[in-house]
Amino acid sequence: MRLAERVAHMTGEGSDGWEIYYRARDLAAGGVTVVNLTIGEHDIRTDPRILAAMAESARAGNTGYTVGAGKPELRRAIAERVSARTGVPTGPENVIVTPGGQAALFAAHMVTLDPGDTGLYCDPYYATYPGTIRATGARDVAVPTRPENGFQPEARAIAARAKGARSLLINTPNNPTGAVYTRPTLEAVAEVVRDHDLWLISDEVYDTQLWSGDHQSPRALPGMAERTLVVGSLSKSHAMTGSRIGWLIAPEPVVAAVTALATNTTYGLPGYIMDAGLAALSLGPDFEAEVSGPFRRRRDLALARLGQANLLRLVPSGGAMYVMVDVRATGLSGEAFALRLLEHERIAVMPGESFGQAASGHIRIALTVADDLLDDALGRLLAFAESLATSD
Ligand code: PLP
Repeated sequence: MRLAERVAHMTGEGSDGWEIYYRARDLAAGGVTVVNLTIGEHDIRTDPRILAAMAESARAGNTGYTVGAGKPELRRAIAERVSARTGVPTGPENVIVTPGGQAALFAAHMVTLDPGDTGLYCDPYYATYPGTIRATGARDVAVPTRPENGFQPEARAIAARAKGARSLLINTPNNPTGAVYTRPTLEAVAEVVRDHDLWLISDEVYDTQLWSGDHQSPRALPGMAERTLVVGSLSKSHAMTGSRIGWLIAPEPVVAAVTALATNTTYGLPGYIMDAGLAALSLGPDFEAEVSGPFRRRRDLALARLGQANLLRLVPSGGAMYVMVDVRATGLSGEAFALRLLEHERIAVMPGESFGQAASGHIRIALTVADDLLDDALGRLLAFAESLATSD
């Protein structure tokens, strides 16, 4: 039997860096000790206070169907957090709760793109972006960013691809590069978006993982609230990846469209997960700082270890739980470097190539193991890179 075209096109072709992740997992399952620095999963588990609220809610009977855009109290709490963090007046009517940021990304593209439209996104990119856009039947077009420009999006590159486009997807703090978009960058992006009458889909799931200054949302820029859809999540900020709870912030008609979509797809979130989300948000900014603290420390550790390296260049990282390293001076691609590193040192990192063309010749290191383990792994990674130079 034939499957639908949109499914066949969703995954695309090209290099699949996930091979390293699967290989590392297989090695670990076979009893081999591997330092796994591949995926963005915290090394802590969800806080017991959040779990207690989840269990209490489930025991109290919140195990039935839920409807609509999410519990009113939760929508209000999310709206208050967004207003406080970005300064943009936001009400519960601007919020729909989704099963994670990924579902919000999918919904945002579903309600803004028709089949045959073009959806833009910046390269390097989070692995699901092209498939998410293609799943709508639209054409995915990557806008390259450049390492020599700190992987900041450039207005000219966006404008050059904007003809026929309906949306632009950006992500700050950025996965995989760790780049935090500057205010001038966001202003230039906003100008192109307005000039070409695009929707801006702003993925801000790392908004609490910022190593200096405050998080800036492009939704706060003049004329942007009515065309910006912000993707948020408790996955990274509250170490709740498995609870699948996130949201989309958008103008009311967009929230209505996403609610209709949810009625025909996810059917909303479990009530006890929403109550856990409420409990998580009630822990406030101090708790968010506690969850993000280890990544800041480990970013500093990576800077101390790799900042002065001869063969490796650490991409300056302003946020998110990753650092990118340029390995081109070793003469290897990111993929070949990562494969050899796994083989020789039992350290698993993601090849830049799995995040697009712009990150080729790079590796991404997730800062997701204990400090001493990371420090040791970075030392071995450096020695491994140097051994490549001397063995030629
Ligand atoms: N956006 C980015 C940039 C991510 O890195 C991730 C997950 O790693 C997501 C969205 C999806 O997160 P979730 O669906 O867990 O909220």
